[in-house]
Amino acid sequence: SGGTGYRGRFAPSPTGDLHAGSLLAALGSWLYARRAGGRWLVRVEDVDRPREVPGVAMRQLAALGAFGLRPDEPVWRQSAREAVYRDALEDLVDRGMAFPCWCSRSDLLASGGVHRACVRAPEPDRPPAVRLRVADGARIRFVDDVMGPQLQDVDTAVGDFVLYRADGLWAYQLAVVVDDAAQGVSHVVRGADLLDSTARQILLQQALGFHTPGYAHLPVVVDPGGRKLSKSDASQPVDPAQPLPALRRAWAALGQPTLGDVGGETPQEWLERAVSAFDPARIPGPDTPA
Ligand code: GLU
Repeated sequence: SGGTGYRGRFAPSPTGDLHAGSLLAALGSWLYARRAGGRWLVRVEDVDRPREVPGVAMRQLAALGAFGLRPDEPVWRQSAREAVYRDALEDLVDRGMAFPCWCSRSDLLASGGVHRACVRAPEPDRPPAVRLRVADGARIRFVDDVMGPQLQDVDTAVGDFVLYRADGLWAYQLAVVVDDAAQGVSHVVRGADLLDSTARQILLQQALGFHTPGYAHLPVVVDPGGRKLSKSDASQPVDPAQPLPALRRAWAALGQPTLGDVGGETPQEWLERAVSAFDPARIPGPDTPA
């Protein structure tokens, strides 16, 4: 596979074991990629060091293997890519599109949480954050494959957002945009909890001269009866020793009709049947009653 140019990815943060919500994103992104005859990549998003749980990245990769979800290319780790993020950031700063900012949390609160310009003088003893300069009236529209037409006024809804944190960590928004471009990702399929980040990412792609991929945001996990799972249920770890029940639950959450039971199937065999039956038009969208 790989001849079609479709490149999808699953990008877990190693902050906890694979759970129902992340399996949904993994399976959904895999199904889209396979259905398109494309490639599926896995990227470990380990930039947020303090939130990383040691050993989890390896367990997540092992669990994906147990579910039959095998990446087509070597796994990337964001912790190895800091030099590339630095180049992108310097490029933006050099072109006046990003700026150092010493504003504190209370400065930000005073401006209603939407940052529009640094109000502080440089403080030589304290490292600054670096923010993207969001132009007045900056507005992003895109059509999400699942969630439909989207519009965000990034200046009023978000403001000048952080690319590099004052505590020395790379912001998710910068790392994800640089890596999606570097890996030639053509389609981003992920959980709807990230729908709100997408306009920021498109704005950043435009600032860096990158191509904007297609987007599909998958609904909050629902149980086989169509009921929404609570956040705590969706965050229950899935059992890699019992791959088929968890795959069937994720499949149902994608709105796909139950596949007939074939005894003694491996996850790979189940997945092959799933790809031929997969119909993205059935994925519950924003107007689907839950
Ligand atoms: N690493 C992010 C997360 O686990 C997902 C990033 C993405 O899919 O864009 O929430």
